[in-house]
Amino acid sequence: MVNEQNNAALAAPGRPVVVIGAGPVGLAAAAHLAERGVDFLVLESGPGVAAAIEEWRHVKLFSPWRYDIDSAARRLLQQAGWVEPELGKLPTGGDLIDSYLEPLTKTPQLNDRIRYNAQVVAVTRVGFDRVRTAGRDQAPFLIRLADGSEILAAALIDAAGTWRRPNVLGGSGIPARGEADVAESIAHALPDVLGRDRDRYAGRRTAVVGAGHSAATTLLDLGALAEEVPGTEIVWVVRGTDQARTYGGGEADELPARGALGSRLKKLVQSGQVELVGSFRIEAVSRTADGRVELAAGERRVVADTVVNSTGFRPDHDMVGELRLDLDSIMGSTRALAPLIDPNQHSCGTVPPHGVDELAHPEPGYYAVGAKSYGRAPTFLLATGYEQARSVVAALAGDWAAARDVQLDLPETGVCSSNLAYGDAGDETAGGCCGPAPQAVEITAPAGRGLATGISGGLLTVIDDKPASQSGCCG
Ligand SMILES: Cc1cc2nc3c(=O)[nH]c(=O)nc-3n(C[C@H](O)[C@H](O)[C@H](O)COP(=O)(O)OP(=O)(O)OC[C@H]3O[C@@H](n4cnc5c(N)ncnc54)[C@H](O)[C@@H]3O)c2cc1C
Repeated sequence: MVNEQNNAALAAPGRPVVVIGAGPVGLAAAAHLAERGVDFLVLESGPGVAAAIEEWRHVKLFSPWRYDIDSAARRLLQQAGWVEPELGKLPTGGDLIDSYLEPLTKTPQLNDRIRYNAQVVAVTRVGFDRVRTAGRDQAPFLIRLADGSEILAAALIDAAGTWRRPNVLGGSGIPARGEADVAESIAHALPDVLGRDRDRYAGRRTAVVGAGHSAATTLLDLGALAEEVPGTEIVWVVRGTDQARTYGGGEADELPARGALGSRLKKLVQSGQVELVGSFRIEAVSRTADGRVELAAGERRVVADTVVNSTGFRPDHDMVGELRLDLDSIMGSTRALAPLIDPNQHSCGTVPPHGVDELAHPEPGYYAVGAKSYGRAPTFLLATGYEQARSVVAALAGDWAAARDVQLDLPETGVCSSNLAYGDAGDETAGGCCGPAPQAVEITAPAGRGLATGISGGLLTVIDDKPASQSGCCG
C-alpha cells in the first residue's frame, strides 16, 4: 500500500503534476487533475492529440461509447456545451479523436495545458540517481525532452501507452537475426489496407505475423482487397499449431459476432485465399535478390513483399529506468497488478477494479496508467484505465478515501466481443480480451477496500457484423 505521507509531500506549489501522453487515459488523468484544481502539464510526443490512435483511426472499437468516455472528461465537456455521442454506438479510432478527445483538449481547463511534439526521453529525480535514498522523496522529478529541454514535476503520471514498442518478429522474444536490416519492409500492426496504405498491399504478397485480433483484422482487410485487386496474396504466419482460439466457435459460438469474425477468417483460410503457415517460429529475416523479405524458421521459408508485425506490444521502461520500479518479471506491470491481469487467468471482464495501491512503485509519486500499466498483458480496456487515472489523481490530491474507493462500472448484462486480444502473439497463453458468457461475480477486494461487484467475461456488447476493420474485436 502507498505511503500517504510521501505522496502528500510531493504536492508542492509551482511544480506541476506531469502527465506523459495525450491519449485517452492521459487526458482522463488531466481532466481529473483539472477538476481537483491540481496544477498539471500534459506532454505528448505526437503533433496532435492521441497520436497512437491516429494511426488506427480506421479501426472500429469493440466497446461502445458508453465505456469509452471518462467521467471527469464528460463533465468538463458538458460544461463546454458538448453533445455526447449515442452511447450504444461503436466509434472508430477516428471518432474517438474527433468527437471526444479533440473537443476535450479544447475545453478551457485543458486548452493551454498540453504540449505537443514533446517527447519524453528520460526521467529521474533532481540530484538523485536510482541508488541514493536520503531525502529522495522531497526531490522533484526531472523530465528531459527530445529537444534537450527539461521540466520539473511534483509527480508523474506515465500514460505513454505501448503502441510505439511493438514486439519483435523473432519467435523467441528477441529480434530475429537480420530483423533490423529489413525494417522498411516490416509494417506496424493494423495498416489501413483498404484506405491510406492500399498501394503498399494491392497486387502484392503480404505476410501477417501474429494470431491476435490485429492480425485477424488485417487478414480480413487483405481478403477484401484481394477481391478487388487480382494478384493480392496473403500469408498468415503463426507460432502456434492450433488456430481454434483465433477462429472461435463459429456458428456454435455463444457470441454470434465473435463467431462471425472467426468464421470469416476460417473461410478465407479454407478457401486458400489466406495461406496459413503454422508452427513457424521466426529465427531469421533477410532480403531476397529481388528485393522481397524472407522469413526463416529452421529449413522452412516464407517470402513476401511486406511483413505486417501483429505480434503485440511491450512497455518502454527505459525512459524511467532511473526511477525505482517494482516490475513483475513476466508482465512488466507492477507486481501487485500482475496477478489481476495475467492473460493466462483473466479475460477483460474479470480484471478486478484496481487503483493507486496496485499501481504504486517504490518511487513515490510515479504511476504508470493506461495501456502501459498492463505491460505485456494484451487485455487493457479504457474503462479500466479511466478508473486507474481517477484513483491516482485522487491520491495525488490527498483524497485517499476516493483513491481507494475503486470501482468499475460494468454492465449488468452484455457480452465480450471476442477472445482475440489486440496484437498479442496469439499463442497458447493468449487469454484474449473476452471470456465466456457473462455471469455476475463477487470480487474480494484487497485489505482497505470495499467489495466490488463485477461481471465475469462480460464487459462489452457487440452488435454488428461488418468487415473486420469496421467492427473491431468482434466483427
Ligand atoms: C486497434 C485497437 C482497438 C482497441 N479497441 C479498444 C476498445 O474497443 N475498447 C477498449 O476499451 N480498449 C480498446 N483498445 C485498447 C486501449 O484502450 C487503447 O490501446 C488505448 O489507446 C490505450 O490508451 P492509452 O491512453 O493508455 O494509450 P495510447 O492511446 O497509446 O496513448 C499514449 C500516448 O502517449 C504518447 N507518448 C508515447 N510515448 C511518449 C513519450 N515518450 N513522450 C510523450 N508522449 C508519448 C503517444 O503518442 C500517445 O498519444 C484498443 C487498442 C487497439 C490498438
